[in-house]
Amino acid sequence: MVKPFVPQLVYVEPSALEYPLGKELIAKFENMGIEIRETTSHNQIRNLPGDNDFQKYRTAKSTLVIGVRKTLKFDTSKPSAEYAIPFVTGCMGHCHYCYLQTTMGSKPYIRTYVNLEDIFEAADNYMKERAPEPTRFEASCTSDIVGVDHLTHTLKKAIEFFGQSEYGKLRFVTKFAHVDHLLDAKHNGKTRFRFSVNDDYIIKNFEPGTSRLPERIEAAGKVAGAGFPLGFIIAPIYLHEGWKEGYREMLEKLEAELPESAKKDLTFEMIQHRFTKPAKRVIQKNYPMTKLELDETKRKWKWGRYGIGKFVYTNEEQEDIKDTLGRYINTYFPQAKIEYFT
Ligand code: SF4
Repeated sequence: MVKPFVPQLVYVEPSALEYPLGKELIAKFENMGIEIRETTSHNQIRNLPGDNDFQKYRTAKSTLVIGVRKTLKFDTSKPSAEYAIPFVTGCMGHCHYCYLQTTMGSKPYIRTYVNLEDIFEAADNYMKERAPEPTRFEASCTSDIVGVDHLTHTLKKAIEFFGQSEYGKLRFVTKFAHVDHLLDAKHNGKTRFRFSVNDDYIIKNFEPGTSRLPERIEAAGKVAGAGFPLGFIIAPIYLHEGWKEGYREMLEKLEAELPESAKKDLTFEMIQHRFTKPAKRVIQKNYPMTKLELDETKRKWKWGRYGIGKFVYTNEEQEDIKDTLGRYINTYFPQAKIEYFT
């Protein structure tokens, strides 16, 4: 069982101490006896403990930076939401295929922002622009926010903020099961709580440092019990020997262990495994022993956002994935909605 995250090292930007959450977090980490260092800006962080890049990468992933979010222009977040809402960046997990390895580059530490009121105000403005259309905000584009939220309770505040909003909706996804503090958040049905799931082989081989499938399913049951709309993202869908059986077993377990109430308003999103050339290089550097199949010749080339091409499965494989997983979902969860396959 993966224990709730505790940082090995904490950095604080002085401006963060002007906010109540900044002060609260520093007091908490002092009490926990964690080393706290000051930094004028996260860009100045140097000298992380570790003898080489491999060790420094691991230290960084267990380092928490307490800072202030300056950019309040939100990125778009298709297809699951209109905007990405920035509360946290980085993650303590070690999934070999994690997209953060390329997007966070040489700064893989976790940053949490304490100026929540500014972020909520910006969200309010985006909602006003689109009203009376609803606006969906995705809180896990640059992190796995649940993984750190037992320490910050930022997500809990966000759930309650959107719970009170007229046109706002919140979504996020997690591979962590540490959800207990979120269960009494006043969500008003405005937050869709999603779990990222995969078959046992994939979680075991490629997702170290995250909660195991039975823990995620148990947490999903609790979340559904608290009345949250629930969803699952099957991602990345990865073809390996026995994948059809693996995914069938996964959905069978979900069906058997979720409470009936959770099955009525359930969504599934399906995302196939993909990689870019830069991602391949970073993965092989950070996880040199990985068994992850990254052979370009077996894949189809596809133009991606920002002009960076990516390697996806061939058309036949994609059809096979859609048919197979779609059939399983329809069999085990006839009331669920499949939102997209990409
Ligand atoms: Fe990346 Fe998500 Fe794994 Fe964290 S849990 S390392 S964000 S894939």
